[in-house]
Amino acid sequence: AIIIRGVHKAFGDLHVLKGIDLEVMPGTVTAILGPSGSGKSTLLRLINQLEDRTAGEIIVGGELTGYKRIGPDGQGLQRLDDKAIARQRARIGMVFQRFNLFPHMTALGNVMEAPVHVGHVPKAQAKEEAIKQLERVGLGDRLDYYPSQLSGGQQQRVAIARALAMHPEIMLFDEPTSALDPELVGEVLAVIKQVAAEGMTMVVVTHEIGFAREVAGQVVFMDGGVVVESGGPDIIDHPESRRFQEFLRTVL
Ligand code: ATP
Ligand code: MG
Repeated sequence: AIIIRGVHKAFGDLHVLKGIDLEVMPGTVTAILGPSGSGKSTLLRLINQLEDRTAGEIIVGGELTGYKRIGPDGQGLQRLDDKAIARQRARIGMVFQRFNLFPHMTALGNVMEAPVHVGHVPKAQAKEEAIKQLERVGLGDRLDYYPSQLSGGQQQRVAIARALAMHPEIMLFDEPTSALDPELVGEVLAVIKQVAAEGMTMVVVTHEIGFAREVAGQVVFMDGGVVVESGGPDIIDHPESRRFQEFLRTVL
């Protein structure tokens, strides 16, 4: 599970997240919707410790992230060392809008890279595993293709396979289909949906309202650094707040 309590984030004077409370249960999909600048990416980056939060707690799989509690009453906090943070971060896979593949490596090379160099998995085993992950995302016949030889949708599926190869407990997706031509969106959403059906805990920032309605158990609407509205997927069809109503009108 992911438990987010009272989380704030400021960049200098800019107060971007203003008290976020959110729970993501194991094996569920949470879709985060919201206008540009509302803080969606910042929230994902805090969950994955790519940024340090300004206040509040984030608990992943029962572990407070980034800090350990100290003092007789556990009220004090001490920053974890880099190794401990790396270990926590390894539990989370992240997929971005831009695929960020290594251009000089094949699909197979991209998926093997982290298990070999970060996870210290023997090469032969990493290769076998990478082939399995690429087959999982429907690219078993593209193992030796370079990113430049793959469509955007295929590249994004390689990026998903690469994240899955580290066996994360949680997958975070930040607008995984926003950079794709419309005809390629479906194949990437289908892969995400399949991974969700296999029981992965997921948080997906998306503008694909149909996908959110169909796949997410929890839908969260953010605006101005706060969660304005959250609930089951039915809130998409029955938004209560004026801001969510207006947002849906602009994206649907
Ligand atoms: P989009 O839908 O456009 O991706 P978003 O909801 O993901 O938007 P964020 O990227 O989280 O929004 O940004 C929220 C606010 O925080 C924006 O005003 C942005 O300019 C600001 N911001 C994000 N990262 C930084 C940073 N590293 N330094 C300063 N300001 C930042
Ligand atoms: Mg964003």
